[in-house]
Amino acid sequence: MLIILLGPPGAGKGTQAELLAAKYQLLHIATGDILRSAVNKGSPLGKKAREFMDKGQLVPGEIVVQAVFEKLEELSDIPGVLFDGFPRTLEQANYLERALKQRGTGIDRAIYIEVPEEELVTRLTGRRVCRECASSYHLKFNQPKVRNVCDRCGGELFQRDDDTLKTVTERLEVFKQQTAPVVDYYRELGLLTVVNGNTEISQVFNQISAALDQR
Ligand code: ADP
Ligand code: ADP
Ligand code: ZN
Repeated sequence: MLIILLGPPGAGKGTQAELLAAKYQLLHIATGDILRSAVNKGSPLGKKAREFMDKGQLVPGEIVVQAVFEKLEELSDIPGVLFDGFPRTLEQANYLERALKQRGTGIDRAIYIEVPEEELVTRLTGRRVCRECASSYHLKFNQPKVRNVCDRCGGELFQRDDDTLKTVTERLEVFKQQTAPVVDYYRELGLLTVVNGNTEISQVFNQISAALDQR
C-alpha cells in the first residue's frame, strides 16, 4: 500500500500520518522531518537545505529526492509507505512515479486534506513539535497531557523556526504555486480523495480510513 498525504502547511498531514502509520503498519516518510534532522546534525544536506527552509521556500528537488530515495531502499521489507510532504512539485511527482515503476509498483491513493487558509495560520502559529519524535501538538487544539512534554516519548516540545507569521505566509503562497498542481495531477489520474480537514482530528482520521478501506 503506497499512500500520499497532500495538503497545505498546517492541514494536519503529520498528525494524520502518525495515526495512519500505526493503524495500517506503514513506513511514514516525512520529507520535512528528514530535512530538519539533517539541519540539526549539520550534515552537508542539512547545510544546503537550511537556507531554503528558513525562508519558507522549497528545498531544491535533487536534495529531497536523494533523501527519499535512501528511505525507499527499505521498501522491500515493509507492507507499505505513507508519504507526508512529498511530492511537493510536479517534478517530484514524476520522479516518484518513475522510481516506483522501476520497482514494479505505483501509488494506490493520494489523500488531499482541505482546510481554509485562515485556519491554517492559527494552526501553524500555535503548533508545537517534539524534539525527539517530531509529533505535532497545538497550544489550544491538541494539547499534550503535560505542558511542553510529548505524550508519546516524553521529549521536549518546541516551536519550529518557520512557524512564524511571516514564513507561514510565504509557505502558503509556495503551496498554491508549486504544490496545488500536484493535487490536480493526482485528480486527473483518478487517484485523489479529498477529505474535509476543517474538523476534529478523529473525524479527519475516519474520513481517510474510510477512503483507504474502500480501495
Ligand atoms: P502539517 O503536517 O500538515 O503541516 P500538522 O499535523 O503538524 O500539519 O498540524 C498543524 C497544527 O494543527 C498542529 O499544531 C496540530 O496539532 C494542529 N492540528 C492538526 N489537525 C488538526 C485538526 N483537525 N483540528 C485542529 N488542529 C489540528
Ligand atoms: P509543513 O507540513 O508545515 O509545510 P514540512 O515539515 O513538511 O512542513 O516542511 C518544512 C519545510 O521543509 C518546507 O517549507 C520546505 O522548505 C522543506 N520541504 C519539506 N518537504 C519538501 C519537499 N518535498 N520538497 C522541497 N522542500 C521540502
Ligand atoms: Zn515525542
